[in-house]
Amino acid sequence: MVEVFSLIARSRYMFIALPALLVSVAVLAAPRFGFAEEPAPARQAMTPVAVPILMYHEIGDGPNQLYVRLGELERQLRYLAREGYRTVSLSEAVNMLAGKADRGVVAGYKPVVLTFDDGYRSHYTVVFPLLKEMNMTATFFVISGRIGRPGYVSWDELGEMAAAGMEVGCHSARHLDLARVKSESVLGDEIGGARSALRERLGVDVSHFCYPSGKLNDAVVERVKREGYVGAVTTAPGWALPGSDPLRLRRIRVNRSDSLRVFKEKLTPPRTHAISFGGTIR
Ligand SMILES: [Zn+2]
Repeated sequence: MVEVFSLIARSRYMFIALPALLVSVAVLAAPRFGFAEEPAPARQAMTPVAVPILMYHEIGDGPNQLYVRLGELERQLRYLAREGYRTVSLSEAVNMLAGKADRGVVAGYKPVVLTFDDGYRSHYTVVFPLLKEMNMTATFFVISGRIGRPGYVSWDELGEMAAAGMEVGCHSARHLDLARVKSESVLGDEIGGARSALRERLGVDVSHFCYPSGKLNDAVVERVKREGYVGAVTTAPGWALPGSDPLRLRRIRVNRSDSLRVFKEKLTPPRTHAISFGGTIR
């Protein structure tokens, strides 16, 4: 190798040959050092796990149970981190429920999904900075027709959150009680149209729906499926379990009055299912 270098160094073509040699060495060495792009393997089969999906609304002081104080949220998130939970997106959770794992999943952590409904401005002003500080992510279910109105996040703010790794889900266009909607075209606007608006304005995929006020019936779920959503969350209480219908996922509601003791009780895992993701996929 040294001889090759000195030969090239003496050559009148060294300005061309030397860079060419260095590039060749880098290309040959790359696979050994893991620089080269490996083909992405398909999702691998794992033991399905149960996943708690936490449901929050407004964060801050307010008149009812839907408002959780920022200090409480922070205490709850620190508790999750201490207990070995790691936040995953709803998309990852749906895969885990089905026993499939995305590449890069590591062993031994307990997945949890944080969801925030309605697209309140507090989600940008206080939740987003806290999540970034704690290296966590969440799924934000926004009402497309309210984005940019007073009290709600703006398109730019939502775009910034999505760019930072937060998941955006669809919570309809107008937050109607969909179980009472008879018109197919209105259902289309609320479920499909709202999703298209989010995708177009934000340039991100929107794979999950959140039923406004938890109201649904078979026709609504069928429409959600037909519009191509991968998952949908309800307000029915409980963990999401392997084998659950991904379009009727249960959630654990966090209330303003919940002490940390109550929060821990709500998070009691089901005895019947694994809750820790047990493999390494590289
Ligand atoms: Zn809502």
